[in-house]
Amino acid sequence: MSTLLSTRPLDTVADFPAIPSGWAYLDTAATAQKPQPVIDAITRAYAQDYATVHRGVYQRSASMTYAFEAARERVARFIGAGAADEIVFVRGATEAINLVAHSWGQRLQAGDRILISALEHHSNIVPWQMLRDRTGIEIDVAPLTDDHRIDLDALEALLTPRTKLVSIAHVSNVLGSIADIARVASAAHAVGAMLLVDGCQAAPRLAVDVAALGCDFYTFSGHKLYGPTGIGVLWARADILAGMPPWQGGGAMIETVSFERTTYAPPPARFEAGTPHIVGALGLAAAIDYVESIGLDRIARHEDALAHAARDMLRSFNSIRLFGPDNSAGIVSFAMDGVHPHDIGTILDEAGIAIRAGHHCAQPLMERLGVAATARASFGIYNIDEDVARLAGGIEKVVRIFG
Ligand code: PMP
Repeated sequence: MSTLLSTRPLDTVADFPAIPSGWAYLDTAATAQKPQPVIDAITRAYAQDYATVHRGVYQRSASMTYAFEAARERVARFIGAGAADEIVFVRGATEAINLVAHSWGQRLQAGDRILISALEHHSNIVPWQMLRDRTGIEIDVAPLTDDHRIDLDALEALLTPRTKLVSIAHVSNVLGSIADIARVASAAHAVGAMLLVDGCQAAPRLAVDVAALGCDFYTFSGHKLYGPTGIGVLWARADILAGMPPWQGGGAMIETVSFERTTYAPPPARFEAGTPHIVGALGLAAAIDYVESIGLDRIARHEDALAHAARDMLRSFNSIRLFGPDNSAGIVSFAMDGVHPHDIGTILDEAGIAIRAGHHCAQPLMERLGVAATARASFGIYNIDEDVARLAGGIEKVVRIFG
């Protein structure tokens, strides 16, 4: 394992003050730790530069507005958006998908169909079910291949002229499987459907170019990209956003208000009612600067090497069952015969290793895998070979305790 890694060490752990030496943080797929430049950007914004945006007539507010809008431009460049106005700041991917369901979803009617997949996070299932309850649409679910990727042949076979939207994860948070988004985009567009991509697990580790992917909506959360919680992104092409009605009403999203009639601001303001997470946006821009200064290619190679090493190590235990394909974007889910994942997680915690154990907000996927829960180790920029070695030691301890 170390030969693979030793050629390309990232050596970033010193940038992360909340990772003490000797602690193996293997839960980056849930949320990433924050590097000092992000913490500094947040501190500076609150301690030095703070003011509201868009409304103040004084200099400080104008500067903050400039920084906030520069963060939007930074995000647009990061994912290859056509313009900054195509970036809507939201709380996270969950809010982005709810926004699309409430706003864009208003055009759907009984008989229309939405196609998702068997590996989706609850945030890409439940908003569509709520929309189904409001409108009478139908939801189709593309199955998985034997190696736990979305079965794209089966997905294509489920597309019909009534399919109005395909909504799938770019990278699964449980399995690490990476979907061929460009292929899904052409298939969806061929029947006149739109494509929403949940990029929560992709944005931190794959270079995303929405134009090359050919999707219509793309979303991700800042906190998984080494940025703050409470800030995320919905991207959609300008013409799509322009045709969408607002979903939350209040300040900032209007053009004029009277008691008789209100007119709405153009996007993205139309979808950003209320005072936004100003500092969150600045922190997100700092996080993007940080990951790009390292290079997404290097991050992907680094995490792949660690995930491969972890898979090889886990395979050496007879009682362990691995989930997901070999090429799994830094994410390794597993189960151990006769041991509940929570027990694995607790014993590993005592050994200074933080993993996630549970259904990972993907209960239908657990059912498909035939388990109630899995243990999941997920790798980030700061992980090193030593973390895989620690995980191996922790797993040996679990085996010793449970025989
Ligand atoms: N989709 C995927 C694939 C995720 O991993 C997550 C977070 N676990 C979400 C959506 C939801 O993201 P958030 O909780 O930040 O809104």
